[in-house]
Amino acid sequence: MTKLINALIFLMMLSPIYAEAKRPNILWLFSDDHAFQAIGAYGGRFENLNLTPNLDSIAKEGLVFDRAYVGNSICAPSRATLLTGKHSHINGKIDNRGPFNHDQQQFQKILQKNGYETAMIGKIHLSGKMQGFDYWEVLPGQGKYWDPSFVTEEGKTVYKGEHSTDVITKRALNWLENDRSADKPFMLMVHYKAPHRAWQPTTRWKEKFSAMTFPEPDTLFDDYKGRGTAANEQDMSIDITMRMKQDVKAEQPERQKELAALDPNDKKALIRLKYQWYMRDYLACIAGVDENIGFILDHLKASGLDKNTIVMYSADQGFYLGEHGWFDKRLMYEESYRTPLIAKWPGVTKPSTRNSDLVQNIDFAETFLDIAGIEAPEDMQGESLVPILKGESPSNWRKHLYYHYYEYPGAHSVRRHEGVSGKRFKLIRFYGKDVPNGEEWEFFDLKNDPKEMTSQYKNPEYAAEIAKLKKELANLRDKYEVAELPQKTSSKKKKKK
Ligand code: CA
Repeated sequence: MTKLINALIFLMMLSPIYAEAKRPNILWLFSDDHAFQAIGAYGGRFENLNLTPNLDSIAKEGLVFDRAYVGNSICAPSRATLLTGKHSHINGKIDNRGPFNHDQQQFQKILQKNGYETAMIGKIHLSGKMQGFDYWEVLPGQGKYWDPSFVTEEGKTVYKGEHSTDVITKRALNWLENDRSADKPFMLMVHYKAPHRAWQPTTRWKEKFSAMTFPEPDTLFDDYKGRGTAANEQDMSIDITMRMKQDVKAEQPERQKELAALDPNDKKALIRLKYQWYMRDYLACIAGVDENIGFILDHLKASGLDKNTIVMYSADQGFYLGEHGWFDKRLMYEESYRTPLIAKWPGVTKPSTRNSDLVQNIDFAETFLDIAGIEAPEDMQGESLVPILKGESPSNWRKHLYYHYYEYPGAHSVRRHEGVSGKRFKLIRFYGKDVPNGEEWEFFDLKNDPKEMTSQYKNPEYAAEIAKLKKELANLRDKYEVAELPQKTSSKKKKKK
């Protein structure tokens, strides 16, 4: 009799219906420009504010990646990498301006073919119709914070009087409750526009943060002496670039009062005040995202979906919250190169664990496929994070990451650069137009100089390490098929014509 029951159980396990029931759902939560410094689970100077209780709860039940990075620190290219599992030069989306080829291979198309129901709701920043999603509802381009319109397969809907963070959550909950088919595992991608510039929080959070004062970063008044042309000539400073009206809304009566109280000759005082205004709006946007994620987590719990749903949170890149006197991203320095990544997988991730392996956004697509038990196509360029989620720290895990930023000349005037980083050392090569002699290197020892204030490229003590990283850079170019490095920029080509 026991033998018969065992045989029956074995047959059940082989049946596709049983396998389907066991494959986990994936809830991918994503935001735009969310610096890891503004997540409680990552510690740092905002830790005591309890800014992100819901994200912290995911961390408590799961795993925090302490060394998660992007391959190109800017909005649309990061999303293209998320979908394709490939670096920018392979998926073709090297900057925010050019088109994205939706016809190319993307992980969601493969998931869909293999029995997953797929949905994308929120900001994707890739113009054209989405492919491989059973349901999609996305903001056109950057989208709007207030009165946002959303584009679907059928057309456009405007949500008058509503905030994008609230609408995205509402639409995601609607899909979970009413639209998805209960007999398939799902991949739901919920992509918030917040906290992108120009930081417009919901009214309830704006008011809560309106009189708060936040700690300043040590590098707010950086003079860029220890670095080269790119850091010295960028256009992303709180001092010069941040606009009084559109960015920090100085026209508001309470801000006018604060402005009037300043000594007009104290230039630093104005930077300090702009920083406070920036943080009030930015962190209020974060609080709104976290609150909304709480609503989705509550729904998972109430519906019982939480037992078989992997929840992952990340952002399209990091961001400067006044470090080096900046906002924005783009550079290969830690604040913008790193991105948050937190995941919980019921029954798999151990509670409150951390991992410091070097992971990158090229890994996400293969991770999703691996979770679903699907072999990733050979031409995807990342690694599955599943072993790490299971608590392993594989001995053959990569030791270096490749980075490449292309959008110059362009907004914020950050020179083109590529680079390689290990756990301790980082080598950056700025190149092309408006870089002296067409090439400029920086090298940082993150152990001795974690804030990257002084490039050691010319320090003979590091010559061996620099040579090693140059070799590694060549290896990675080869591995990732960086065919030729564009030496001249598009604007120069235009001039020739
Ligand atoms: Ca972004």
